[in-house]
Amino acid sequence: MQQRSPAVAKDVFEKAVGFTKADEFRRAGLYPFFTEFSSGADSGEAEVMMGDRRILMFGSNNYLGLTTNPEVKAAAKQAIDLYGTGCSGSRMLNGTMDLHVELERALARFMNREAALVFGTGFQTNLGALSTIAQKGDVIVADKTMHASILDGCLASFARTTRFRHNDMADLEEVLAGLQPDEGRLIVVDGVFSMEGDTANLPEIVRLARKFGARIYVDEAHAIGVLGKNGRGTAEHYGVESDVDIVMGTFSKSFASIGGFVAARHDVIEFIKHHSRAFVYSASLAPANAAAVLKAIEIIEREPERRQRLSDLSTFLRKELVRLGFKLLDGFTPVIPVVVDDEVLVCKFFWELMSEGIYTNPVLAPAVSHSLVRISCMATHTDEHAERLLESMYRIGKRLDLIQ
Ligand code: PMP
Repeated sequence: MQQRSPAVAKDVFEKAVGFTKADEFRRAGLYPFFTEFSSGADSGEAEVMMGDRRILMFGSNNYLGLTTNPEVKAAAKQAIDLYGTGCSGSRMLNGTMDLHVELERALARFMNREAALVFGTGFQTNLGALSTIAQKGDVIVADKTMHASILDGCLASFARTTRFRHNDMADLEEVLAGLQPDEGRLIVVDGVFSMEGDTANLPEIVRLARKFGARIYVDEAHAIGVLGKNGRGTAEHYGVESDVDIVMGTFSKSFASIGGFVAARHDVIEFIKHHSRAFVYSASLAPANAAAVLKAIEIIEREPERRQRLSDLSTFLRKELVRLGFKLLDGFTPVIPVVVDDEVLVCKFFWELMSEGIYTNPVLAPAVSHSLVRISCMATHTDEHAERLLESMYRIGKRLDLIQ
């Protein structure tokens, strides 16, 4: 057989050479990503440092403001003193500390489930749990607007994946009605959709799951600590926890750390624990991260006023932004999507806000169907912070012709 000459073979780096969009935005002074901060948000405040500039943070998933909480920091430091900085191995072998077991018990108790299993990140959790519990002969039925980690979990699974239109229950019903009778069915949705800030219609999903004999998996990444009477998320908010079979959560948001978990029936967790490659073949969570989550759970349970403050502030900001004339996507969560629908305008809006010392999230396709400036509220934002945001948004919104 003739050998292909290296000189004529297609270069795998061609795509990188052709990728110039980021540079184009940089040259136009509009590139809004990878901005560098030099400190985290103050515990009492919501401001971060950028060199010697104070920036008001309205683009963080630190919903309850716990990442710099003195108790959480002290717990993390103590864990380093006791266990060191890493565990250097898989949970299955040398990597399980008593701290991990304590954390899984605390998560199971907090989420009111039989058992929980901790992964290295939230992304890894969806990737590892979905690809393990859904296998050949099963079908995953997922909302089209699912998080990238859910999509990767589906792609890594040998199950068939089919999608329904975002939060469209008639479409979900049609998809479910068309499944093969012998396929195991798993409906997968984000509880709170991370970019759009809306919530899955869980009551209706539960009804359809019952009708068509499907299990339900809910990604509660943006809902834990935020929604529900006890902060257990969207399923608690809608009163359907006992009908949701698996909940997933991340530690990188309300839990003020990094890592993720799934919680479910004991046998389901036991199966994932022994079969998920993302769990078995990856080193265990660093002790400081585990200890931070344990402390965050304690604070979330002890201080429900943080959740109330977050909810009040989100409602206020949503109402005021609409009153000022901004177009928002529907919802009631602390993730507030302001529709801009033009990539360049999103970047201009972002930088104008930055020039007034306010950070928000620029969200561009393909992450979403609409280009957005996403505002994320924190329990530690004060009324003055909210007023400052509104004043700047109004001024800049008018200048950019986004509002009348
Ligand atoms: N699920 C959702 C809905 C998310 O928004 C994210 C991250 N933003 C993840 C999972 C992944 O979590 P992590 O960042 O902890 O890996």
